[in-house]
Amino acid sequence: MPYHIVYSIIHMCVMFVGNVTLFALWGDNMTMATGNLYFDKYSPVGDIVVIAVCSVILVLVLTSFIKKSKSFGLFMNMVIYIVLAAVSDIIYHNAFNHITDSNYTIVYIFRILYHIFLFSILLLYVVYILEIQRIEMSRRYNFMLISTLLYIAVIVLDIVMTVTGSGFHINSDRTVTQGSNIFLWGYLAFMVVILYLMIANRNRIYRQVMNGFYGTMSVAFIILYLEGRAGQSSYTVATFLLPVLAMLYLIHSTPYNIEIGAISAIALRDTISYNYNRNIDFIFMSMLLPDFDVEGKSFSKELQEVIRRFSNEFFKGSILFQVSNGHVVMFARKKNNPDYENKINMLINAFYPEYEKFQYDYKIVVGESIEEISRKNEYISFIKNIYRNMEMNSFHMVNYDDVTSFNRYEYILEELGDIYRRRDLRDSRVLAYCQPVYNIAEKKYDTAEALMRLKLPEIGLVYPDQFIPLAEENGYIHVLTEIILQKSCDEIRHLLSEGYDVKRISVNVSVLELRDEGFTDDIHRIIEASGIPEDKIAIEITESQSESDFMLMKDKVEELKEKGIKFYLDDFGTGYSNMERIMEVPFDIIKFDRSLVLASDSNEKSESMVSSLANMFSKLEYSVLYEGVENDLDEERCINMHATYLQGYKYSRPIPIIELSRFFTKIV
Ligand code: C2E
Ligand code: CA
Ligand code: CA
Repeated sequence: MPYHIVYSIIHMCVMFVGNVTLFALWGDNMTMATGNLYFDKYSPVGDIVVIAVCSVILVLVLTSFIKKSKSFGLFMNMVIYIVLAAVSDIIYHNAFNHITDSNYTIVYIFRILYHIFLFSILLLYVVYILEIQRIEMSRRYNFMLISTLLYIAVIVLDIVMTVTGSGFHINSDRTVTQGSNIFLWGYLAFMVVILYLMIANRNRIYRQVMNGFYGTMSVAFIILYLEGRAGQSSYTVATFLLPVLAMLYLIHSTPYNIEIGAISAIALRDTISYNYNRNIDFIFMSMLLPDFDVEGKSFSKELQEVIRRFSNEFFKGSILFQVSNGHVVMFARKKNNPDYENKINMLINAFYPEYEKFQYDYKIVVGESIEEISRKNEYISFIKNIYRNMEMNSFHMVNYDDVTSFNRYEYILEELGDIYRRRDLRDSRVLAYCQPVYNIAEKKYDTAEALMRLKLPEIGLVYPDQFIPLAEENGYIHVLTEIILQKSCDEIRHLLSEGYDVKRISVNVSVLELRDEGFTDDIHRIIEASGIPEDKIAIEITESQSESDFMLMKDKVEELKEKGIKFYLDDFGTGYSNMERIMEVPFDIIKFDRSLVLASDSNEKSESMVSSLANMFSKLEYSVLYEGVENDLDEERCINMHATYLQGYKYSRPIPIIELSRFFTKIV
């Protein structure tokens, strides 16, 4: 049995045994508590401290950020009932001391009110636990019924017994008879319900939080026990306060970044739903500094200072949320900032000198609450989608086009998710397009690159720039590759059966996919099942950025090369190439990116550089393919720069894969 279960069970046992002893002791003391002992031993100090602490809680809650959830509402009610209980406790004890005419009605009434408030807290406590344990509604109902009946029964009994004189009674000589202590019985019955809930559903709450509750409740029981032993009752309300303090700390506090004064992003969702439900309009400003938005990084000291100053200076009542290491969102009510458009202009003007100083790349998005996005509570993904489409070092004011683009994005994402879940390798929404590649030595087209498009029911054709990054971010890319591979294999088989000379079709693979354990098996299985020779398929990969990805790539390439599959290095010339590393991987073809084709056109120096690179690769027995050959001049230059293959709009735009036969020749 894991240690924490043992720990919680021991805890519960200690608490329960303690409770029963307490009951025995207390019961004894109380029935014997005749004379004025009952009132004499009372001191209002306990209740006054409780009222003071509750007031502090209210001040804290009103001045700091707290998640305003349903359980928070319950929590606030508990605080209020605790104050009411403390006040009633003070009143009924004091009333007794001031009464001279032997009419103790007011004492009885406030004593009963005192009990009603305490039981209300216990009842709320049950509801609260059900809420934070997220118990299913049907089961909640049973517990609610039991505790409500218990609540009513205890209160009715308390009243009846007081009225009939069989319970708590003040005799004519001002001595007190305790009678049967209904309060204690009711209290114990509630404890049974609460302890049952806590033990039975302990796994539904984060363990540390649960332990926090056990600890606090133990302290409460110890106080009750000591109090009972001393024949006291001044601190009873205080023991009801302790679990509430634990709730404030454990459940309703929010991770807080001291440096910049920001609250975690989870809290942003709560703030938005709170404001949306109350029809409160708000404004937001989101800042992304990509340099810091990596694991383990955080804003520099100076930057922290600037962020804190900006969020305080420009917007009244603003709250700052930290979405990730380099991404913060400032949120403020529109009503408090009617001139916010002006403020934003001022902020932008104040921002530039800071930018000059720090020179960190940034993207800033500013906007007002939008009903549709608030309803779905999706500001973070909404803003991220804007970032995706906006230029570095710019401001963007949210407009309705952003919502349209976001809806499109969400729709694409949904469809991608569906494609991923179905894993139908012939899914008709994923189209294989192809671009034929010209073989200079053979003077014909005998290879092609497969390029993916989506064809979605509601929006038609979607191009790679709009879905490849989404598929990569959400882990859907590998299934898409499998589909394109399947469709390429199908077409190769078809072309071969018709007698066409097809050397191979290359399929693009994302570096992320290589991290998948099953990558090589998946690829190989599809090719094998289609029955075509393995060397009819090539895989295009771009250079990986990190050392670990590089090692991974090297392993996978070597593994699949053994089966006969060819490899292309894609987009050579777009990143910081590490020649030594490239040479370590057994690539067959180096694809020179279109930017090199363009550069070679700009001046002789560039041309000679591109040419020598290509020459070097050819001497090392790689083939060189130039991408993005658009016209005769491009073609001529590339041929002079040691090209083996040429690809580009000059020969063909990407076409549906079934039209490839137009370019290929039959073997005679
Ligand atoms: P890429 O692999 O570099 O593909 C070449 C891109 O250049 C294609 O864009 C192609 O249409 C375009 N292109 C071809 N000839 C010319 C030309 O003469 N001039 C110009 N300006 N462009 C030309 P496309 O199809 O939009 O694909 C864009 C990128 O999306 C691809 O770049 C590739 O990185 C990615 N992609 C496409 N299909 C797949 C796929 O099946 N899997 C993966 N992982 N990525 C894919
Ligand atoms: Ca490619
Ligand atoms: Ca490329």
